[in-house]
Amino acid sequence: MLDIKREKTDVLIIGSGGAGLRAAIEARRYGVKVTLVDKVVIGMNNSTRFSGGGIKAALPGILSTAYTSQYDDPREHFREAMIHGEYLNDEALVEIMTFEGPARVLELKGLGVETFDAMYLKVHYPHGSGLVGPLIKTARKMKCALRPGMVITRILVDGGRVVGAAGVDIYRDKMVVFETGAVVIATGGAGETFSRNDTSVNTTGDGYTLALDAGASLRDMEIVQFEPYVQAEPDLPMMDRHESEAEFHGVLRNALDEDFLPKYLPVAKEGQVPFEEQFGMALTDIRERVARSMVSEVAAGRGDNGAVLFDLRQVPADKWQADFASQYTRKVLLRGFDVEKKPVHVMPGAICTLGGIAIDGDCRTDVPGLFAAGEATGGVHGAARLGGDGLLDPIVFGARVGRSAAMAVGDTPRVSQDALEEARAAVAGTLRDAPADLEALASLRDRVKRTMWEQVGILRDGEAITAAIAVLDEMTEQIKATKVRSLRQFKTRLEALNLARVGRVIAGAALRRTESRGAHFRTDFPQRDDGRWLVNQFVRQEGKDLHYTERPIRLRTTELLNQSKFGIEVK
Ligand SMILES: Cc1cc2nc3c(=O)[nH]c(=O)nc-3n(C[C@H](O)[C@H](O)[C@H](O)COP(=O)(O)OP(=O)(O)OC[C@H]3O[C@@H](n4cnc5c(N)ncnc54)[C@H](O)[C@@H]3O)c2cc1C
Repeated sequence: MLDIKREKTDVLIIGSGGAGLRAAIEARRYGVKVTLVDKVVIGMNNSTRFSGGGIKAALPGILSTAYTSQYDDPREHFREAMIHGEYLNDEALVEIMTFEGPARVLELKGLGVETFDAMYLKVHYPHGSGLVGPLIKTARKMKCALRPGMVITRILVDGGRVVGAAGVDIYRDKMVVFETGAVVIATGGAGETFSRNDTSVNTTGDGYTLALDAGASLRDMEIVQFEPYVQAEPDLPMMDRHESEAEFHGVLRNALDEDFLPKYLPVAKEGQVPFEEQFGMALTDIRERVARSMVSEVAAGRGDNGAVLFDLRQVPADKWQADFASQYTRKVLLRGFDVEKKPVHVMPGAICTLGGIAIDGDCRTDVPGLFAAGEATGGVHGAARLGGDGLLDPIVFGARVGRSAAMAVGDTPRVSQDALEEARAAVAGTLRDAPADLEALASLRDRVKRTMWEQVGILRDGEAITAAIAVLDEMTEQIKATKVRSLRQFKTRLEALNLARVGRVIAGAALRRTESRGAHFRTDFPQRDDGRWLVNQFVRQEGKDLHYTERPIRLRTTELLNQSKFGIEVK
């Protein structure tokens, strides 16, 4: 019989990336009991830690402008984020992020983050450890209960409001039901849904399925951001090559040895000059466009083994020593590879999901007692994300959600015995005392990811997405039929299932949006269509079906520009 235990807490936070850690610290400041769980080690294996550590906020003279463009005041940041997001962002959320951002970033110093002004210059790889490490220490010092190895499997809702959450403790081999009226989803995104990605293997979109099953809505799920310079060399890790002094002197070439980017981007300055000077824009702010140009070259038959080439042969020797990111690239990412003699294969990979759980300015979802923050949410970045806003989002909304969850604390609810038994049965029903279907699970997971990359990736069209949906539905059923032997293996099964389910949600939204906008590019509808598609898409789980709805966007303060930053023609 599977052991299951009740535990009480005031606030339960799921996920120990930037959003979860910041939320835990903030909630604790209100004197409530905080439990922060993560399905792996606390703070170690997530996007915040693996990030480049570039934060954007209007703090002129304080935040470094080395690789990410910065703004002189929050109004400029707000405007740019809206234009960049091609108006799919929620103005209220963007206002909060850009106007509260500077204060939240400055406050990091008091939380032990001494390097916030330029983590990528000051912190050795992974740069995000400069943020995560001190936040863990602070959370610990403030006596937040930290629970690694706790995979949350279900949010428990009774009478329309949250009463707790069920999880499997894979380190102690038992189940736990947390009794609490305030649950925060800070589970990050779903980059792992695509076979090419540079995120942690844990970004399996668990928060999206938890929210859907609890009755909350997701929004703008068709929007996925891809990082261009992800290694595609068979013997090198599939990792992102963070912006660095050396990399800015590299040139992307196709199999014909052509320097192809100038064909896709207006050139501000000719010659061997760093990226931003050459194209007049920071790479981090136009990666959607660079990624699309790379995939377009391969699709046109000018790729080399399904990738393009990043030529670093002309990088001046001193640039490899210029910063930690350059040194790391040379010594670790390119270990044993002679970049002076030959170019390295690169191809984009998913970095962030920009859609997610629908929240209001206080991080409340549609379900009372359920809150969310960070990459797990949608509405902050719209159709494309500015470089540096990916970290600002969890820092700002992590603090907000911590406060909101703490303010919602009342009498601890009681989870009914029936609900507890149901949560146990859902896990126990997947276990058997015989060899697990691990090989089948690995191959199903792989098929889901390949389907998403090949058919719902950077260049999408209706026919391919429709075919992908059929595959994803079939994969979902096949994964549901698998059995495992232990709770650790249950995590493997759950993640495969979540990837298939989230892939299906993304594909459904991508199929409906018959236009191109930001990171969403439909080759069969290559124009932005404001007449038809100035709408946000929402999705809920209704029984076995996904129910998509649309809500027209009414801009309060932003002027709608009839021009796209992404080389997409506006109808
Ligand atoms: C390689 C890379 C580089 C990046 N560089 C930058 C950058 O320089 N600047 C920038 O602004 N943005 C950057 N981003 C984006 C940014 O880092 C992320 O969007 C942001 O850090 C997400 O933070 P988060 O706290 O929401 O999620 P995460 O940091 O991903 O944390 C989510 C946590 O939830 C846990 N979890 C998930 N499911 C469960 C479950 N069922 N039960 C328990 N725990 C669970 C995970 O294990 C994980 O620890 C980068 C992203 C990547 C991948």
